[in-house]
Amino acid sequence: MTYLNDLFIDGAWRPGADERRFPVIDPADGSELTTFAVATESDCLDAVAASERALPAWSATPPRERSELLRRCYEILAAEEQTMTDIIVSENGKAHADALAEARYAREFFRWFAEEAVRIGGDFRLSPAGDKRITVTRQAIGVSVLITPWNFPAAMATRKIAPALAAGCTVVLKPASETPLTAAYVIGVLERAGAPSGVVNLVTPAPTAPAVRAMLHHPAVRKLSFTGSTEVGRLLLHEAADNVISSSMELGGNAPFVVLEGADVADSVAGAMVAKMRNGGSACTAANRFYVHTSVLEEFSTELTAAMSRVRTGPGHDPDNDLGALVSVTERDKVAALVDAAVDGGARVVLGGTARGAGAFYPPTVLADVTHGSEITRTEIFGPVITLIGFDDPADAIRMANDTIYGLIAYVYGPPGDAMTVALAIDAGMVGVNRAVLSDPAAPFGGMKQSGLGREGSAEGIEEFLEEKYIGSPA
Ligand code: NAD
Repeated sequence: MTYLNDLFIDGAWRPGADERRFPVIDPADGSELTTFAVATESDCLDAVAASERALPAWSATPPRERSELLRRCYEILAAEEQTMTDIIVSENGKAHADALAEARYAREFFRWFAEEAVRIGGDFRLSPAGDKRITVTRQAIGVSVLITPWNFPAAMATRKIAPALAAGCTVVLKPASETPLTAAYVIGVLERAGAPSGVVNLVTPAPTAPAVRAMLHHPAVRKLSFTGSTEVGRLLLHEAADNVISSSMELGGNAPFVVLEGADVADSVAGAMVAKMRNGGSACTAANRFYVHTSVLEEFSTELTAAMSRVRTGPGHDPDNDLGALVSVTERDKVAALVDAAVDGGARVVLGGTARGAGAFYPPTVLADVTHGSEITRTEIFGPVITLIGFDDPADAIRMANDTIYGLIAYVYGPPGDAMTVALAIDAGMVGVNRAVLSDPAAPFGGMKQSGLGREGSAEGIEEFLEEKYIGSPA
């Protein structure tokens, strides 16, 4: 396969100023897929300058035309879903079914925000004293720096690019260095769909931090939209503070999965498999900690372990495999270290628990008798590992579920009334009640506490890229 593997700045593909390149690795076997251009700090600033030049015309482009560009991207991605799926599998390692699901999910943001672009509203009213007219308009916030992670290399990019362009902003995308090829493919689709020069730009700096800092200190940049770890998000909030840049943060998660007394066990197990294993566990939405009422713990554990033991692990390009590789050997080793520490702390391995062979694979794993508060219950596992913890009193389940710095998502299975009561008591931006798949372009995605600031998708998603202006005039 041939890949787009250069920077995209001001409407042109080009190598970095110093012509350095970095390897892009297939994590299933460690082979080099291609090399990608390294962006220097000056390349990144060129991209910001191109965005700045493109902003006046793009933000003044009729909403219908902005909408139609996004719609064309949706159509191209629908026609080419297999291409995008293959690129995602190659550089990310995930299973074919997960990559295909991502390709479909990713393009929906273009369709959704094509529909939102023409619905940007405002407000108009007479002041209470009757002495002036209050007109509130909303305009594009400006040049936006978009930074994305490797775990959903397509969807995290489209979830930001589509609302930004719909709002009239111009963007510089900085994808994760593990997965630049999917990002370049998305940018190529925008180019083919007719995005004017400078409206979308792609940079892949190394080292990352100084180049991102330089962009965030450029006076033209007015928006930072970041998806990634809480640790890096915190650093970037500090960087954004210097120029008071509006910041949206989609950060880490530590999702509890609560199974209440009276829950339908088969349904709960099916939900648990999806909430844990979607994207091989490498998801901010992945269930991390399973709190199960003792009345159903044994049955739930037995059935869940049986389901996990049926998961076929192997290269993502083989559509018969349910679980692909993790993104890198480094990530696999992080998962292994968390499991080893849990076992040292008294957890019991019911299934898996040992990485074998070449490639960044980790086996489906179930740990019982895990202690709430231990490292594995406080850290995002980001791999196919289930940790089981029993409870007797739902109040304890709520307390443990909330005992985390994160608040992205939670899942509750049980009789609907009881499950709703628990859902309302959990501090999370999203809660699935007897439902394990929540992501939807029409729903607000985002977290409470240290899982983030702002929402993506839905009507709220475009608001992150708009700014209000109040114009007062005589009554
Ligand atoms: P990461 O924070 O390491 O990296 C994310 C991005 O930030 C990458 O592009 C990376 O190159 C860049 N980056 C890293 N250090 C930087 C620095 N000092 N300055 C500027 N940029 C820097 O995250 P990751 O490992 O790529 O992705 C996994 C994380 O993303 C997990 O914590 C996961 O929960 C989170 N995530 C959150 C959501 C959400 O919507 N809340 C979605 C997907 C992933």
